[in-house]
Amino acid sequence: MMKFPEVNNQLFINGEWVDGSEDAVAVYNPSTGEKIADIAQGGTKETAEAIAYAEGAFAGWAATDPKERARILHKIGSLIEENLDRLALIMTLEQGKPLSQSKVEVQTSADSFHWNAEEARRLYGRAIPAPSEHHFLTVYQPLGVVGAITPWNFPSNMIARKIAPALAAGCTVVIKPASATPFSALALAELFVEAGLPKGVANVVMGKSSDIGKELTTNDTVKKITFTGSTEVGQLLNEQSASTLKKVSMELGGHAPFIVFDDADLDQAATSLVTAKFRNNGQVCVSPNRIYVQKSVKKEFTEKLLEAMKTVEVGLGIEDKTVGPLINEEAREHVEAQLKDATDKGATILHGGKRPEDEKFANGPFIEPTVIDGITKDMDIYYVETFGPVIPLIEFETDDEVAEAANDSEFGLASYFFSKNIARISRFSSALEYGMVGVNTMAISQAETPFGGVKHSGFGRENGTEGIHEYVYAKSVCIHD
Ligand code: NAP
Repeated sequence: MMKFPEVNNQLFINGEWVDGSEDAVAVYNPSTGEKIADIAQGGTKETAEAIAYAEGAFAGWAATDPKERARILHKIGSLIEENLDRLALIMTLEQGKPLSQSKVEVQTSADSFHWNAEEARRLYGRAIPAPSEHHFLTVYQPLGVVGAITPWNFPSNMIARKIAPALAAGCTVVIKPASATPFSALALAELFVEAGLPKGVANVVMGKSSDIGKELTTNDTVKKITFTGSTEVGQLLNEQSASTLKKVSMELGGHAPFIVFDDADLDQAATSLVTAKFRNNGQVCVSPNRIYVQKSVKKEFTEKLLEAMKTVEVGLGIEDKTVGPLINEEAREHVEAQLKDATDKGATILHGGKRPEDEKFANGPFIEPTVIDGITKDMDIYYVETFGPVIPLIEFETDDEVAEAANDSEFGLASYFFSKNIARISRFSSALEYGMVGVNTMAISQAETPFGGVKHSGFGRENGTEGIHEYVYAKSVCIHD
């Protein structure tokens, strides 16, 4: 195996690296099945300690000049950029995505720190017109200790876009990364130290997720829970957080519609779909999952799509092809079950659909990038998130029909459509019940724009000017001379 870079494997609490009270567990490379390293494990006790230290650090950090907070966050962003190759290699080895995609994610993490560094200095309140001798002010105050729980699919950026605005606002944090990908989180923590982040301001705990989650959600000292992951776990954490009335943000599952209208640039639509769908092997909450194509252009679009599929290659993460492995065997079985269910009910596989045969893929959960046609509502894939490299094609005829179909989902995270007709663009951007709409583009997530969903995709926004507001409360100050 490619040598795994040196990264601390302990919990990071109050600026110290500590062993946990539980037995260490192994982390594996999903491309090869090889063990990468052991990782220390804590639990309720260490989480409570980290929360107490974060609380201890809160007053000092909140009182730190915003300009100084911004300087440290910029420093973290710059260190991430300086360490980009190393951080990307760590990510590819523990998560499996192709190396160049890891580099893009690491750069995106740096962007989150730089963007939010500036937001620290722009958290403007308001002066409200008031009667004579009175002054009405609104100021934004940091909430306090934040508990952040993140998934494995973007093991760096899902942390960055929570931590950067939280720290910018003056909050302190306890982070619980996903078990499959702790090293990306710990490698960031090493940079926090190098950037001079004061002790206790950011802490990282690993261990049994239900124990850590329970402590974070029920400890009264924690004032905010920010979670990215499955809808099921999000609902549980939301319920648990109710006991201590925390402010909560939930970035949950998605099942994005992707609509190709008859006036679309079909080349643009086909290449955009292939690029976006196979990013991170389809293990993306905003991945297009239902591809609606208008009947009159369906044949031509499908031909272009299949042509574009010729550029899609499977490889070990380190080989930097289009797609790597899925995260684990369970994920592969889920994709295969969706394909079997669909073909049993009449769908046709036009491309891929099997495990790749090359011997080098034998030890990882690889599956060929797939195009499947003839998807109907009675198939699991129509309503259930795939989280894998599958393009399911659905035919439609009228605008009304596709508007209704696109919104027929419990999720409401990302949506996309391709059209050059301004009236359609205006009408559909408003009709889609989704937190984000990409029109003739799949690039809907950047530091500058608010990211988040509606319905069972959750609530709260990350990035944009909205992001930092998840970590503050508005205080109204009414003054009489
Ligand atoms: P997951 O199983 O919900 O896990 C996410 C995180 O929650 C991990 O850190 C996990 O820890 C932790 N967790 C699991 N059970 C928990 C519990 N009982 N209490 C506290 N924490 C618990 O989701 P996933 O499989 O990693 O990620 C895939 C899902 O995330 C998909 O549905 C995807 O759509 C969604 N996602 C959403 C967004 C968004 O922005 N909306 C972005 C990316 C992904 P362990 O790893 O230790 O189990």
